[in-house]
Amino acid sequence: MSSVQLINIVKNYGQVKALNDVNLDINSGELFTLLGPSGCGKTTLLRTIAGFHKQDSGTIKIDGSEIDDLPAYRRDTGMVFQDYAIFPHLSVGDNVGFGLRNKNVPPREIKDRVAEALETVRLSGLENRLPNELSGGQQQRVGLARALVIQPKVLLMDEPLSNLDAKLRIELREDIREIQKKLKTTTIYVTHDQEEALVISDRICIMNSGEVSQVDTPWTVYKNPEKYFVASFVGSMNFVKWPRQSWLKNNPLSLKEISLSSKGVVLDPNKENIIAGVRPEDISLTSEPIDKDHQNIVMSGIIEKISFSGREAFFHILLEEEVRLLVNVSRPDELSLKEIGETINLVFPKNALMFFDEKSGSRC
Ligand code: ATP
Repeated sequence: MSSVQLINIVKNYGQVKALNDVNLDINSGELFTLLGPSGCGKTTLLRTIAGFHKQDSGTIKIDGSEIDDLPAYRRDTGMVFQDYAIFPHLSVGDNVGFGLRNKNVPPREIKDRVAEALETVRLSGLENRLPNELSGGQQQRVGLARALVIQPKVLLMDEPLSNLDAKLRIELREDIREIQKKLKTTTIYVTHDQEEALVISDRICIMNSGEVSQVDTPWTVYKNPEKYFVASFVGSMNFVKWPRQSWLKNNPLSLKEISLSSKGVVLDPNKENIIAGVRPEDISLTSEPIDKDHQNIVMSGIIEKISFSGREAFFHILLEEEVRLLVNVSRPDELSLKEIGETINLVFPKNALMFFDEKSGSRC
């Protein structure tokens, strides 16, 4: 088990600032995910750690020792690539044992370690197959076994599931999580898929334009985003420019009671540059009148659209002032009988509201 420290990492490609002063502490034994939209610098950061190219400035440490001047093959990292990158002319066994042969490990030990790695990734018995005799999911398992067999200090995974279909992606991500928990190999995992990141990670680093937006557990990133960008990228969120008065007019709560910052401070209702957010699943719908209390925000709106998928439904509701809210109902029941154009009541706890500064993007 090894820790990784990234200190003030900068990497430019000409005018493009791919990594802009990245600082991260990755704990020993954790599965740490770099998550962000295309072009935010995830792959550049992973390849910098692997040593495939060098940062312009900054330092990388593994277990407290600088590795900046070590070539890739001496960094004690194993890499799993998006396109598997296995040798087509070598059998599964020879692909997995490749790194060990390069290190002059004795043949007997190679055989045992290859067998063990294949068992770990559930490919025992397929040693003699060629890659083109395997499914995509099996080929990526070979990629994983090949990285694990060298017992790297740090496992680096670059979008390992993106070439697989949806069902296989779910199956393999569960396996990767289980294997990583068992072996406790420190793992840095790159994905642009927020659901995959939430399911697989111990901690997630959300990146935006070469910078770190937030580092936290999946639960905290989702429930307590520190930035507008994080709230909008992870999960879905309704955003409304604040304060909007008239759609709250029948509400028992005053604007002052609702407009509380994450630290419980009353936000200035006259401030123009605040955005409020609420998750679609935090809002409940009902045809019945709602008892007004001092914990919940209550309003009514008109159903504009319903997307029903059996297990859940999404309601698009139009409130006054042309404000629209998306509502996720996990057990639609009789609500699915509602028609477009009907009026419906909405309720959500006042503490489900989050506020962001429009200019800086930071949570208020
Ligand atoms: P994706 O999810 O699409 O792979 P990413 O988050 O991994 O994206 P990077 O591939 O790290 O992003 O790219 C970061 C930025 O650096 C992008 O603006 C990209 O266009 C640029 N970039 C990456 N590699 C090079 C290169 N070899 N030459 C010039 N620009 C590059």
